[in-house]
Amino acid sequence: MQQNEMKLEFDSRSCNESFARVTVAAFLTQLDPTLEEVADVKTAVSEAVTNAIIHGYEGRIGKVVILCRLEDRELYVEVRDSGKGIEDVARAMEPLYTTKEECDRAGMGFAFMEAFMDSLEVESELGRGTCVKMRKRIARENRQERS
Ligand code: ATP
Ligand code: MG
Repeated sequence: MQQNEMKLEFDSRSCNESFARVTVAAFLTQLDPTLEEVADVKTAVSEAVTNAIIHGYEGRIGKVVILCRLEDRELYVEVRDSGKGIEDVARAMEPLYTTKEECDRAGMGFAFMEAFMDSLEVESELGRGTCVKMRKRIARENRQERS
């Protein structure tokens, strides 16, 4: 099995959001994804990183860690923070649920991650942090079409 892995650690500043999603997208290019696949992954990573910054750390500066692994044609991506954690994960993942209504949050971040990726798992512990694990298969046909 072909495997390739990278890890990225950065401060929880919103100016790092675009850096994070572009870096994951750049790592993914070795699977020759379609523009749509790249856009899906960027959206999902962006939502998870934004959540770590605004909900996990709430303005405090901590570390956000992204682990990316390619296993054959599947991308595994993990976004981890050591912030405040989520009390009720199942509830947090419901569409339209948000604890920051006053900040104009729609409560759609997890719903987007679920829609744009093939699988989504969230592990969280109050006071310890949150880890969002996502997978997406990148179709092989992409490569054959172009070669
Ligand atoms: P939107 O993503 O649409 O701007 P949102 O961030 O509130 O709004 P979700 O991304 O679906 O919506 O997250 C739902 C809720 O889960 C958040 O309001 C927050 O309470 C909690 N949450 C999500 N990620 C984290 C995290 N990393 N740490 C702590 N709480 C989180
Ligand atoms: Mg969100």
